Amino acid sequence: MRPFRYERAASAADAIALVHHEPNAAFVAGGTNLVDHMKLGIATPELLVDVRRVTSPVLEELPDGGVRIGAGVTNSELAADRTIRRRYPGLSQALLSGASYQLRNVATVGGNLLQRTRCVYFQDLTTPCNKRAPGSGCSARGGLERDAAILGVSQACVATHPSDMAVALAAFDAVVHAQGPGGERAIPLTDLYRLPGGHPERGTVLERSELITAVDLPPLPVAARSRYRKVRDRTSYAFALVSVAAALDVADGVVRDVRLALGGVAHRPWRARAAERALRGAPATEASFRAAADAELAGAQPLPGNAFKVTLARNAVSRTLLDLLEARR
Ligand SMILES: Cc1cc2nc3c(=O)[nH]c(=O)nc-3n(C[C@H](O)[C@H](O)[C@H](O)COP(=O)(O)OP(=O)(O)OC[C@H]3O[C@@H](n4cnc5c(N)ncnc54)[C@H](O)[C@@H]3O)c2cc1C
Ligand code: SF4
Repeated sequence: MRPFRYERAASAADAIALVHHEPNAAFVAGGTNLVDHMKLGIATPELLVDVRRVTSPVLEELPDGGVRIGAGVTNSELAADRTIRRRYPGLSQALLSGASYQLRNVATVGGNLLQRTRCVYFQDLTTPCNKRAPGSGCSARGGLERDAAILGVSQACVATHPSDMAVALAAFDAVVHAQGPGGERAIPLTDLYRLPGGHPERGTVLERSELITAVDLPPLPVAARSRYRKVRDRTSYAFALVSVAAALDVADGVVRDVRLALGGVAHRPWRARAAERALRGAPATEASFRAAADAELAGAQPLPGNAFKVTLARNAVSRTLLDLLEARR
């Protein structure tokens, strides 16, 4: 690992200024992703600015009935929070499906959102990777394709976004608050992440010195009936092949409201808006659930090595919605 300097910021503004004025500086929170990348030589910051003491570690109810989650809240605290478990259970389940107890105890909301892809070639300095070294090529195409994306892919990159938490937040219309040298802005979580296009090195719309300060969940009654299903190679300590965050409200056998997002299938948490449109007002049946999944997956562009993900995603969507339907009875 290369030598680097470490500073504890005195305030959010101080942290932002430190990173802004040093071309090769980075924020660090729990360090569970960034420090691994420094050891591997993928990230080589000369200055680490610790933001754990300057990002809020609390959850608070908002006047409109929503919930504000400080960027410094740990993954364990968020998963265990009573309000989250009662009003957004799918978010708690998503967090608990990720990493391990030890990691969740130090990993923060801000860091979880900005964790980098687990594409094996991104982590291997000996192989070409457009995300790590723009213009060098994509080793995943024609290589180990099993974990690659099937939606929103580009010729340059087929990596997936690894966060489970972000999939649930995408389903629940979360809004990310960021503070930078130019002021503050609020970004819908679904707009925070970029599709790879010709520039996969940029995973989000954030500038380097923009600090995530909080994430807001809107008051969303349907989210009280939500679930997170994660399909993976092992039952713990593994990233999703495909995951589904779903919330469902049914009245008189008809879908009144629904939220759906997929993980493990794209460069960003994939909000399944086509499926949601197909479901609203439709009979709450397995046939409708499957048809909605098909509507979403019609644009899938799988590679030979991950074509199975299309079937897996269809089945995972349908099973998760059926689970929610059966839980009402
Ligand atoms: C073995 C292992 C298994 C894992 N399994 C899973 C899994 O199954 N599912 C899953 O979702 N995750 C998994 N993870 C990833 C884990 O969730 C992330 O490492 C963790 O959430 C990152 O949070 P952190 O606070 O440690 O971030 P850090 O490592 O400190 O930072 C990550 C990135 O975010 C930036 N950053 C941090 N805070 C802020 C902020 N407030 N504003 C702007 N930028 C910021 C940093 O500069 C860095 O680029 C796993 C990790 C490991 C090591
Ligand atoms: S899929 Fe993306 S991250 Fe993986 S090797 Fe290709 S360019 Fe790199």
